[in-house]
Amino acid sequence: MEFTTKQIAEHIWAIDQKGVRSFLLTGPDSAVLVDTCFGGDILSACRTITDQPITLITTHSDGDHCGCDQQFPVQYMHSAEFERYNSRGKGECKAKPMQEGDVFTVGEYRLEVIWIPGHTPGSAALLDRQHRFLISGDTVQSGCIFMHGDGRDLPAFRESIVKLNAMRRDGLFDTVYPAHGDAVVPADILEDHLALADEVLSGTAVPAGPAPEWFPDTVKTYRHGRAQMYYACL
Ligand SMILES: [Zn+2]
Repeated sequence: MEFTTKQIAEHIWAIDQKGVRSFLLTGPDSAVLVDTCFGGDILSACRTITDQPITLITTHSDGDHCGCDQQFPVQYMHSAEFERYNSRGKGECKAKPMQEGDVFTVGEYRLEVIWIPGHTPGSAALLDRQHRFLISGDTVQSGCIFMHGDGRDLPAFRESIVKLNAMRRDGLFDTVYPAHGDAVVPADILEDHLALADEVLSGTAVPAGPAPEWFPDTVKTYRHGRAQMYYACL
């Protein structure tokens, strides 16, 4: 599977593969890669951009975010994700634990770990307060968020959206770099995510259409503004 690389900001590249996206941030003596897509040789794609040592940070353990983890000797992931990572049967988690508030520095960027459980138990985002962006994994995106299946927790997801939206309203970030959909998204999409979560949890949401055929028939697509999710309302 091919990777395509595109610079989206100073020293930040999007690395896309079949609808999922990793981000590479480069400094003069180190680099950070966020997630590794489905599989293949993402390291070679990174090496077309930087020859510095690369630290891997994993937003969560879904298969489209962990496919090339074995290429990176230094990996961090929220500890609440370890059990789920190991249960996937794709190899033992070798990541070091990271927690809310941990900071990774790369060049001019200072990436602060924000714990946002819900899509998965240990989902994490990375916030740069000075440059006012959030690398969000799957939790904030213009694509369709998977909220059906193993490890999904919609009430927890809603709490994480409330938390992020409060940070946004406090002016901590105005741009989101998500793993699916558009590579650069205005942070006020969080208002749509919140409205959608409220509608689905309260039972007032009306399906916008079916979900892809690999889901059970009970799973539907729900939409509010720019936010979308796959979910089964019982
Ligand atoms: Zn994903």
